[in-house]
Amino acid sequence: MESKRLKKIPQKVIIPLKQHLGTICEPLVKKGDQVLIGQKIGRSVSYYSSDVHSSVCGEVLAIENAPHPNGNKVLSVIIQTTESMETVDFVPTENTSQEKLISLMQEAGIVEHYGAPTHTVLMPEDKKIDIVLINSTASEWIGGKYKTPKEYASQMMDALKLLMKAAGASKGAIIVRKDDKESIEAFEDVEVNGKALKVAPLVGKRRLGYYFRDQDSNIIVASQKRIYGKKILNFFTYNVTGRKVGIGCDPTDVGVAVCSIKSAKALYDAVYEGRPYYETVITVEGTVDCPEYMLIRIGTPFKDIIESCNSEGEVAKIVANGVITGVAQYTDEVPVTKGTTRITLLTKEEVLRDESLACIHCARCVDICPVSLVPSRLTVLADQGRFDECRQMHIENCIECGRCAVVCPSKIHVLQLIRYAKNAIEGAYADAAPKESSNLKLGCCGGE
Ligand code: SF4
Ligand code: SF4
Repeated sequence: MESKRLKKIPQKVIIPLKQHLGTICEPLVKKGDQVLIGQKIGRSVSYYSSDVHSSVCGEVLAIENAPHPNGNKVLSVIIQTTESMETVDFVPTENTSQEKLISLMQEAGIVEHYGAPTHTVLMPEDKKIDIVLINSTASEWIGGKYKTPKEYASQMMDALKLLMKAAGASKGAIIVRKDDKESIEAFEDVEVNGKALKVAPLVGKRRLGYYFRDQDSNIIVASQKRIYGKKILNFFTYNVTGRKVGIGCDPTDVGVAVCSIKSAKALYDAVYEGRPYYETVITVEGTVDCPEYMLIRIGTPFKDIIESCNSEGEVAKIVANGVITGVAQYTDEVPVTKGTTRITLLTKEEVLRDESLACIHCARCVDICPVSLVPSRLTVLADQGRFDECRQMHIENCIECGRCAVVCPSKIHVLQLIRYAKNAIEGAYADAAPKESSNLKLGCCGGE
């Protein structure tokens, strides 16, 4: 199944000049300019940045601060669209040297969904990458722009080789979900270095190193359980490679570059089709009847996507990137960016009310935590600013999956409190900001 596009081009798109972590792009257009699809409209001014392209044909109406799904206003190029589908000339790349691939990724605007420009993940300053991973556990093959699972498998394999070359890495792996049978079937028997591949299950203590040796290959595909969470990179890296990532570090500190299926596909398109990153696949869920996956032009306001779906009730709240760890939006005029993965529409009845009770020590949060923390205790320590004790309880291992908050029958703001403590620890406590959310009733779970 291919992702569906919107039937109508939005009348106006809002393209933020910062859709990545790092420096904002410098605008290359001005009010009144005509632009084409794929035209570069924002240029990086530092290595830690990523270029921005127009996703439509039209006229630049303004360059001004506009809503961004992260909740802040960001300098954006506002374009009045036309029906034309004219693109700039897309020129495939024949030179795939390491230097060229790195600069191509920056020029094509390829970023990870959590914001890091992909070229900085593959070639971080002063660090050496020896393993590249494509994390496909969060997106089934249909989450991309592929006609068949086999096409997906073959493009991902090509993309992995490009990513390894860009990073100068000797080994690479694609990690699929163990219950994603279509992906597993698609990768079975794909040829790597003249040998048919077998998808390797990551079970027990068998990590990638075992399978690189067992299959006598520097490229493998492995399957594992899906891990949800906002900050899963370090946990994912440890689970897959066995390399521990320390506090305040990221996988590149242990020689691992983790890329998403989206950035891998974007690199494939940039190299083989000359196409920059101006469209992205998202999921729309909630009170609407929409196709499971939609291919959306970056800059499309949420309003246009919601209007294109059959509504099944009045929308009371819009959340970007999932109800557990995402951001509630204050306007539907906010645009889809490279970081948008999901739009959730909630009815009045579904909007959570703040009706917290004292902790009843049910331990549901403990049972469900995928990294074996004790969330109930951490919330108390966080609430009281006892950050040293939070560290002793390994709070940094929290992947912010939000499951503890979901199962808590007392509706305690478990995730918010844990995040508060983690932020304070990252800032070495000095600038601990006031708590954004605490509804903990002290005197309950060990609040001595
Ligand atoms: S403490 Fe909560 S948010 Fe953190 S990993 Fe455990 S269940 Fe997920
Ligand atoms: S924090 Fe919530 S889920 Fe955890 S023990 Fe207390 S009441 Fe139960």
